[in-house]
Amino acid sequence: MDDWEKKLFTFLYEPVDRCIDPEGYMERAKRYRELLGVREWEAWIPPVEETPFPPEICPSPFRELRHPLSGGRLEVHIDEEKDEILKIFEDAYKELGERFKGLSEEQGFLYLWRNLEEVIAEKSPGTTWGKYLPLFPADTRAPNYAIWERLRILSALEDNCSLFLFSIGPVQSFIAQARKTQDFYLGSYILSYLTFMAIEEVVDRYGPVSIVYPDLHRQPLMDWFLQKKRIALGSFKDSMLLVPTIPNRFVAIIPTVKSDKLKGLAKLLMEKVRKSWEDAASAILKAFAIQPDPDVEKKLNSQLQEFPYFHWVAIPWRSDGKDVVGIDEFESFFANLKPYREIARGIGGLPYELLYSALERSMGARKNLREFTQPEVLEKGRKCSVCGERDVVFFRESRNKGKFTRYGVPLLDLTGRKEVSLKFLADGEGLCAVCFVKRAFEVYLRESVSRSVFDKLTFPSTAEVACADFKRQVLSQKRKELQEYLKRAKDLFGEAFQEVEPLPKLKADFRGLENLEGEWFYEENLRKAYIEKELGISVDEERLKTLREALKTLYETTRPSSYYAVITFDGDDMGRWLSGALLPSIESTYAPGIWEGFPESLKDWIRGNFPRNADGFTRGLLTPMVHVSISRALKNFALEFVGKIVEEEHLGKLVYSGGDDVLAFVNLTDLFSIMRKLRAAFSGHIRVKNGRIEVNRDNASGFVEKDGRYLLTMGPKATGSMGVVIAHYKTPLQLVIRKAFAMERQAKGLQGKDAFAICFMRRSGEERVAKAHWRGQGVPDVIEALEKLQTVFRGNGKGVLSARFVQKVAAEFSRLKEKNGTLVLSQELFESLLKRLLRRSCEFPPGTQEQEKEGFVDEVFGILNPLFWDLEENIDTFVNFLAIVVFTVKEGE
Ligand SMILES: [Zn+2]
Repeated sequence: MDDWEKKLFTFLYEPVDRCIDPEGYMERAKRYRELLGVREWEAWIPPVEETPFPPEICPSPFRELRHPLSGGRLEVHIDEEKDEILKIFEDAYKELGERFKGLSEEQGFLYLWRNLEEVIAEKSPGTTWGKYLPLFPADTRAPNYAIWERLRILSALEDNCSLFLFSIGPVQSFIAQARKTQDFYLGSYILSYLTFMAIEEVVDRYGPVSIVYPDLHRQPLMDWFLQKKRIALGSFKDSMLLVPTIPNRFVAIIPTVKSDKLKGLAKLLMEKVRKSWEDAASAILKAFAIQPDPDVEKKLNSQLQEFPYFHWVAIPWRSDGKDVVGIDEFESFFANLKPYREIARGIGGLPYELLYSALERSMGARKNLREFTQPEVLEKGRKCSVCGERDVVFFRESRNKGKFTRYGVPLLDLTGRKEVSLKFLADGEGLCAVCFVKRAFEVYLRESVSRSVFDKLTFPSTAEVACADFKRQVLSQKRKELQEYLKRAKDLFGEAFQEVEPLPKLKADFRGLENLEGEWFYEENLRKAYIEKELGISVDEERLKTLREALKTLYETTRPSSYYAVITFDGDDMGRWLSGALLPSIESTYAPGIWEGFPESLKDWIRGNFPRNADGFTRGLLTPMVHVSISRALKNFALEFVGKIVEEEHLGKLVYSGGDDVLAFVNLTDLFSIMRKLRAAFSGHIRVKNGRIEVNRDNASGFVEKDGRYLLTMGPKATGSMGVVIAHYKTPLQLVIRKAFAMERQAKGLQGKDAFAICFMRRSGEERVAKAHWRGQGVPDVIEALEKLQTVFRGNGKGVLSARFVQKVAAEFSRLKEKNGTLVLSQELFESLLKRLLRRSCEFPPGTQEQEKEGFVDEVFGILNPLFWDLEENIDTFVNFLAIVVFTVKEGE
């Protein structure tokens, strides 16, 4: 692209410090451009649609920020004088000017886009204003979005442009096809990586500002791309590349309205993604020294073509600065266009909200017309061990090869092939081409992304996650004995000793020790036959016996849990957020006194024509700036909070964290804390205290201070739902993942969403489902109540609630409920019965006075009783919750 110069100019069109001194900011912008050696551009700057604003209202001082999605308020306190602050900006631009020397326009733009905020932040430590920098408003009169978003949109808009939406799939069915945790993780990585391959192509042509969603700023794959472009990065660690964070769809502003050009672009993106997928397959075959014969190759290619599929739509926006599409052309998408007609007249153009909603709706219409392609080669052999859909192409089988070969279809025997380790293909396993490439995708990532990051990649197994708390305790209490255990394991397993990465939080504790795969800390697996099957080695009985003895010593501390959890979180109503329907009242987008100063006629016009939100208030419209603010809030959630909660503060491992979605494995000990914090972080109901994230429901501003700067979140009106499955580490993973998605749907099925659903899958096959809203009527925080219950089941010094209480409740109420579980008893009778059961189920330390006993019973009653009424008076749900809580505390009792 030769327009980088123009992009530089528009990105610097207004100064970032405009809010510090709104007088004369245009001259300041010019001066900064001079310092960077950026040429002035006479071209017309396309207007950006903004919140309506009468020009005669004077700039107000920078005293507060308004949250774009909730109307929340953050007071701003700045002690420094404005000259002092502006001096720092001037210095920053001077320094940037030095760094710019020798860079091409493209490099300069990318450098500025990536580092400007960091360069200024580095110059402002200890200042009172520095923490507001990421939120510096574009206009202090309407401080509901940052200047950063405005500059990004300014430099993305052209006289000719279209909105473009592109996605690849399938998502849930593709990632759920997993036998090992590694399949689940790499499936998610593949979707992220392939989508980024398309994004990269767009960025390479039109710059990162062209991508409206997701927010690419500081995304690991984006930083990796910038590195390839030789752009110096302030803060970036290769290891950040481990977590996939790019969602499977993106929205872009493409500078053309010509349909053949848009089609050409879409075709190019699809070809690029497909080529990356094929390259991955070739790289993997090459690394494994596999040379398929023509028949196998034909089959392989035919299967590979089944993934991925694409959807894209584009709507022309502006041609020579004028709207291309008339409002009437949207008639088929909207029931009532009347209000928008009047607005369009008032703001002098097509509202972005309408354009964007039409884009989403036409994508939805296309998706319903999903095309099914017939595989080129007929599938009639043994089905793949992972997906069960396609024929096996590669297998390993040391005993009964006929299992795979008797169908007479082309396939390849990899038994005895040293290059293909058991990690990629277990004995007895047969994989189709798609599942094989997925399983071994790290081999390709080593080549294409980073050797150092993916070289010794091990994704923790379900056993590793389940026993993480056991390992944590053993590391601190029985380190020497653990060392001895590892030594004996090494003697026994020899070359086959499975060293794996521990969960991120335990990494530091393992310093100086090798971490043996979690599976080998369960007594049930230390059997000769099992070891032979899993590791393909024959072991010495005597040595095995001494290993078992060493394990018993470790068990003196505690025993490893056999269960772990999978969680899936997803923001609620994202479609409605993006259509503008949930935006706050228009008055809440302005600084104090501004709306009041509007001429009455303008206020009346807005009130009369603008849409109303769910609360019945006249709301603002979805503008491009609000849209990129949503992208930024979601990016902050995924990159700033999710990883910290799941991997730094707790025993969890992320599979994916991007857009409004999270997928993770978590150890049961930390399950409730992780659930609670994730939900709170999504809506900004947290604070960071002493470097740790705490739930803080009092924070209604939607902004969270972290590492010395305020970050935008989705805000207090946003909600999210979660599906959770607690499963045995040997339960087939595919069942667990599918169940987790099903739980997420169940949670979203509750009235008003904003809920979670937990399925407790016993190894025996018994399932218990418990679902609830995060907040009830009587219980302000349901997960917190469950945590309190954990404490009373564990015993809190004053007393302990026996685990048998759960059976007692189930038995006592079994005839006092309807078939669907609803209680058929008055509140009074229920309460007295519950209290009586509690008295019979609590145990106390010797010498406890009657009064103290009653106090403890009252305390437990105070947790249980409101919880029951919040669970829609459902005995079954109540019992299931109790059973789950007891299980997390006293597994196996
Ligand atoms: Zn398969």
